[in-house]
Amino acid sequence: MIEHDVIIVGGGLAGSRAALEIARTNPTLNVGLVAKTHPIRSHSVAAQGGIAAVLQNVDPNDSWEAHAFDTVKGSDYLADQDAVEILTQAATGVVIDLEHMGVLFSRLPDGRIAQRAFGGHSHDRTCYAADKTGHAILHELICNLMAQGVTIYDEWYVLRLILEDGQAKGVVMYHILDGELVVVRAKAVMFATGGYGRVYNTTSNDYACTGDGLAMTAMAGLPLEDMEFVQFHPTGLYPVGVLISEAVRGEGAYLINSEGQRFMADYAPSRMELAPRDITSRAITREIRAGRGIHPDGSAGGPFVYLDLRHMGQEKIMSRVPFCWEEAHRLVGIDAVHEPMPVRPTVHYSMGGIPVNTNGQVRRSPSELVEGFFAAGESACVSVHGANRLGSNSLLECVVYGQRTGAAIAEYVQQRKFPEIDAALYLREATDQIESLLNQTGEYRIDQIRQAYQDCMTNYCGVFRSDEIMREGIAQLKEIQKQYSHVRLDDKGKCWNTEIIEALELRSLMIVGEMILTSALNRRESRGSHAREDYTDRDDANFLKHTLAYYSPAGIDINYLPVTITRFQPQERKY
Ligand SMILES: Cc1cc2nc3c(=O)[nH]c(=O)nc-3n(C[C@H](O)[C@H](O)[C@H](O)COP(=O)(O)OP(=O)(O)OC[C@H]3O[C@@H](n4cnc5c(N)ncnc54)[C@H](O)[C@@H]3O)c2cc1C
Repeated sequence: MIEHDVIIVGGGLAGSRAALEIARTNPTLNVGLVAKTHPIRSHSVAAQGGIAAVLQNVDPNDSWEAHAFDTVKGSDYLADQDAVEILTQAATGVVIDLEHMGVLFSRLPDGRIAQRAFGGHSHDRTCYAADKTGHAILHELICNLMAQGVTIYDEWYVLRLILEDGQAKGVVMYHILDGELVVVRAKAVMFATGGYGRVYNTTSNDYACTGDGLAMTAMAGLPLEDMEFVQFHPTGLYPVGVLISEAVRGEGAYLINSEGQRFMADYAPSRMELAPRDITSRAITREIRAGRGIHPDGSAGGPFVYLDLRHMGQEKIMSRVPFCWEEAHRLVGIDAVHEPMPVRPTVHYSMGGIPVNTNGQVRRSPSELVEGFFAAGESACVSVHGANRLGSNSLLECVVYGQRTGAAIAEYVQQRKFPEIDAALYLREATDQIESLLNQTGEYRIDQIRQAYQDCMTNYCGVFRSDEIMREGIAQLKEIQKQYSHVRLDDKGKCWNTEIIEALELRSLMIVGEMILTSALNRRESRGSHAREDYTDRDDANFLKHTLAYYSPAGIDINYLPVTITRFQPQERKY
């Protein structure tokens, strides 16, 4: 058994910022950080467009109150406003702190940090490093962590949260290199395990975004919050689904249908291409459904629309969004200086997650917290994004709430002893779990089941939803889940057995998908990213509340949590 004062699962922006805060606050604490990838390969490294913060470098009239209002309106009034106020007030300080750590932000001619427009933000406030912002931030954070002596376990897969008597006591982890299983006990466990884009068949997320942390939390009997709110990013590159950053529209690109029209004029006339993502994704889906999409041969009625950058000119394209140009060129052979890019919505972000308070401590019910368990970043739901996240607010959330959660943990562990755990028992159970996966002799391959599952989620819980469609989805999903115990692994070895990891990840995807569908079925209204064709209006009287879903193999129970409203009363949301 290994011991750490604090064990953090996840080496993306949220986990590494928390680890750094703990090490800075109390260098005597023994902190371990585990990641199933190398930390600098966490999905955070792929973040492109930027991080929102009121610096007033470009727009002197900006204010944290304006940022808070945009965020709450963007969330369709489901965000907890106390958490949003913390986020937007802390933003300026955390960005300056990142720059002092060495993050190379893009500059204005006078040397101050540059800021660009982003969807749903009423002022130019998104700070960026060209279109490689996540890369710039994550690399600096990890360098700083290593200098602070945090123990990093890279390429270890955490497969269980140890939770007994309402207390988190540690985790069980598996070394991908050689199959070793280890129990870790800790005074505090933090999950910063990121999102679950791989639940769907088309996503901007990397292969590791399988929602493991969410599934482990749910299997431990704790709730997940607002899982029905899945963000579809409007501009996934067709057909691969990888992201073309909103920064491209922030810098002036147009969305065009088969008739050559900038169709956003019909959906969000005041914001056009810079409307929030839920509205823009629905607009694109409606255009495609109405036959105004485009085929690869250029004819009408196809599966994508155009993102047109040509009027921006080569110099601007190559200096502000060079990576997006490169992606389209490398992946689909389009030179965006001279041709429009084919795009359509792609699954991008998880607004829901592990419910936490504003110190990152996990909730076990509307009124109780879990001892020793914390979460931040995309895997957590604090909830600053409510029913729809604004672009560039996620990196900000990871840094602000990573830091706050780290500070809270550093204080929390002072009063806590190492918990008692029966390590041999957990080790035996994990060994049995791996052995039984290896010994199964079924007729299914992992990728067959995963593909069927991802297709099911995509077809039955996409941009538009209805009772009938989702019920059919749940029925199909139950059938696919039964196949899991008949999956066959070819690799029976211990060394770099990636099939075992894929099998464990598939289990996570299945639990998370069922939580999404069930939460969505129970929300009988349309709000933010959750658009129902049978309940087309927002229903504040019945649904201005957060969903809490509790998993059990027998079925999912739904409860609710009130929304915190401080300064912005819900209004009709128009752009
Ligand atoms: C292509 C793309 C572009 C984006 N661009 C922007 C942007 O410009 N601005 C913005 O604000 N947001 C952006 N986002 C969203 C934002 O990048 C993410 O929400 C954020 O980086 C998530 O950070 P995180 O620390 O929560 O998780 P991640 O960075 O996803 O890290 C998760 C970590 O958990 C580890 N992990 C997971 N499961 C396990 C397990 N079972 N065992 C061990 N380790 C595990 C992983 O190895 C990884 O280290 C973008 C997202 C994508 C996909």
